[in-house]
Amino acid sequence: MSSPVIELDHVSKRYPNGFVALERVCLSFYPGEIHALLGENGAGKSTLMNILYGVHEPTEGGVLMNGRQVVHRRPADAIANGIGMVHQHFKLVAPFTVAENLALVARGERKKIFRRNADIRSFMQGYGVELDPDAIVGMLPLALQQRVEILKALVNDTKVLLLDEPSTILTPSEIQGLYATVRRICEKGTAVAVVTHNVDEVLANADRYTILRRGKTNGTGLTEGCTPDELVEKIVGRVVASGTRLGRQRLAGEKQMRLNAVNLRPSSGSPGLHAVSLMLCEREVIGVAGVEGNGQTELFELLAGQRQPDSGAITRSGPDVTVALVPQDRHHEGLSLDLPVSHNLLYPKIMQGGYRRLGLLNHAAIAERAREMISESDIRTHSHGSLARSLSGGNQQKIVVARAMAESASIIVVYQPTRGLDMAAAEAVLTRLADAADSGTSVIIISSNIEELLRVSDRIVVMNGGRITGEVTGDDMSFEKIGTLMTSGRGVQSTAAGAEHV
Ligand code: ADP
Repeated sequence: MSSPVIELDHVSKRYPNGFVALERVCLSFYPGEIHALLGENGAGKSTLMNILYGVHEPTEGGVLMNGRQVVHRRPADAIANGIGMVHQHFKLVAPFTVAENLALVARGERKKIFRRNADIRSFMQGYGVELDPDAIVGMLPLALQQRVEILKALVNDTKVLLLDEPSTILTPSEIQGLYATVRRICEKGTAVAVVTHNVDEVLANADRYTILRRGKTNGTGLTEGCTPDELVEKIVGRVVASGTRLGRQRLAGEKQMRLNAVNLRPSSGSPGLHAVSLMLCEREVIGVAGVEGNGQTELFELLAGQRQPDSGAITRSGPDVTVALVPQDRHHEGLSLDLPVSHNLLYPKIMQGGYRRLGLLNHAAIAERAREMISESDIRTHSHGSLARSLSGGNQQKIVVARAMAESASIIVVYQPTRGLDMAAAEAVLTRLADAADSGTSVIIISSNIEELLRVSDRIVVMNGGRITGEVTGDDMSFEKIGTLMTSGRGVQSTAAGAEHV
C-alpha cells in the first residue's frame, strides 16, 4: 500500500466555549482512495474536515502531509498545499458562467488553462464531466452546480479533496453520477474524503471508512467485506431495528382540512397541481411519496397557506384548525442561525408578544422553557444560549420539529423531515411525529424516502407529474407498490380522492 498523503496525528479540538469536538483522533488518507467519514450528527465530522482545510486549528496534535507536519491557519494555506473542499452550502457565484467560476479560483500557472473554453472543456472531460463552459451556474440543476463546486476544488492541482455531505441534496441516480465523477478524480491519484450518513452509499462506493463517535474514532478499515449492520452498530453504538413500525395502529378521527380538486398552473420548473384531492384527519399520518419535483413543493405551499390554488378549494373544518410547518430548507425558512437556540425554539411565541415582562423579554422564562424543550427533544447543544449555527444539522432539525410540536397545532405539515440526518436523529424526529399523531394531531409527511413513510404512515399517497396517482393503505403499503406508482402511471386517474373519508 502507498503511504498516506495526509494524516491527522492525535488531533484534539476544543472550541472556545469549552466543548471538545475531537479527542486524539488519528487518521490517514491514501492517494487514489475514497475514504468515507461516518458518524452521528455532532460526532465531529465537519470539525475534522475544517481542520484539514484550515478553517479551524487543532488544539492539540497535528496534521502531516507526506509525512511532514503542516500548519493550516486559514483555507488559503490548505489550498496552497493541494487541499480542496466542497462545503454543504455552495460558494458559487450564481450569475457567473461555469468558466468564470472556475477561472476565479485558478492560481498562478493554472490560470492559463481557464482562459479558453476548449481547455476548460478538456479539463472537465478529464473527470468525465460534460458541461457547457458558458452555462450560467445559477441556472443549472443542483446536482450540476455541485459538479461545478467539485471541479472548482480541483482547479489548483488538488491532492486531497474534501466533500462535506455531498449526497444529502441528491436523488439516488444523481448519487451514482456523483461517485462516477469522484472515482475519476481518485484515478488521477487524489485522495477523497467524503462525509455521509448513508451506510449503503459507503459500502457501494468507498474504499475505506472511518467512524467518528462523540469526537473519537470508533472503527476504521476497508469497506470490502463489511456489512451494513457492522457499520450501523459502530455509528450509533447500538443496533437499530430498522423497518419496525413507529406509533400505534390508529383510527383516524375528525377531518381537519380538505383539498378538493385543487389545481395550480404549471410553470417553468413546476409541473403544477392537477385535480389534487386529499383529506387530512385527526390522529392520522399521511405520507406523500414521490420523486422530487412532482408537485410536492407546490402541495406544501398550499397546505402552508403560502399559495392559493388557481381553482378548486381548500377548506378547514373550523376556524380553530391551525397548521404548523416543518419546512424542507431549514437554513432559510426554518431557523435564524444567528439567534440562540432558545429564541429559535420559542420564535413564534416571542414574536407574538409572549415571554415578556413589563414589555421586555423575560429571559429567565425563555431559558426555563427552552431547557425543557431541549431535554424533551434531546437537542445536543452546549446551552440554550448557543447560536443555532453552532449545532449540527440533525440538532438544528430537532429545533424546527420541537417548535412545530410546541405550537399544538391541529395539523403538522412536514417536508423531508430526515434528509441529511443520521439514523439516531432521524429516528428521534420520526418518533416525535408518530407520537403527535397518536395524541390526535393530523400529520402529513412529504418525503422521497419510502422506507420512512412506510414506517410511520397510516396511508400513503403518491405524486407524479403534479397529480396524485395512487393511494396505498394497510397491507397494500409496500415498497414495490409505491415505487411503481412513483415512476409510472403519469396521468393515471387519482384513486386517492380522499372523498371516501368524508
Ligand atoms: P458533525 O459534522 O459530525 O455533525 P460537527 O463537527 O459539526 O459534527 O460538531 C461536533 C460538535 O461540536 C457538535 O456538538 C457541535 O455542536 C459542536 N460545535 C461545532 N462547531 C462549534 C463551534 N464553533 N463552537 C462550539 N461548538 C461547536
